[in-house]
Amino acid sequence: MSNYTGAVPDTVRQPDWRTRSACQDYDPELFFSTGAEGTAKAVCRGCPVREECLNHALDERIEDGVWGGLTDDERRDIRRRAVQWKLTALETQRRLRLAEQPPRQRTMQEVFAESTLATLGDHLAWTGSVKPKFRGRAYTPAQFAFIVGRGRAPEGAVRRTCGTPECVRPEHLSDGAERQAASTPAAA
Ligand code: SF4
Repeated sequence: MSNYTGAVPDTVRQPDWRTRSACQDYDPELFFSTGAEGTAKAVCRGCPVREECLNHALDERIEDGVWGGLTDDERRDIRRRAVQWKLTALETQRRLRLAEQPPRQRTMQEVFAESTLATLGDHLAWTGSVKPKFRGRAYTPAQFAFIVGRGRAPEGAVRRTCGTPECVRPEHLSDGAERQAASTPAAA
């Protein structure tokens, strides 16, 4: 919600994004009323400065009302995930938006890149859905990473070889076939 009132004086600088908000002709109460969230969101959907508005609300940690098409609860969820994923609120929002897109529009490698974050010790943390789906099939994050890394489906359970919980670096994973091959003595 821009709260734009028309009272902002013109200056020689670029006009503020608020001057282009779709809500400036609506009663601000619409954006702060629990029963009107659907209507407020519909206005936001057609707003040319939706992204700027949402970024502003996230930056300023605004608690109340619909801003950028998201309710206060939805923005709180983004901030909670941002802490959990150790990302900025804006980057978290970007990833969540990407995750909403139909998976078939992206490759498995792209989904993987968007769902992971390098961590200390050359590990890779999974920050995407706990049950990632690709083309209608659900995987565990480790299975997903294994397929991206090896270019084939795993045989048996995928396990971490680095001992770091949640690491999904493909080089730190093995499947049943690889473990079996590693334990089989080479022919003399
Ligand atoms: S996104 Fe919604 S609340 Fe924000 S400026 Fe646009 S219409 Fe107003």
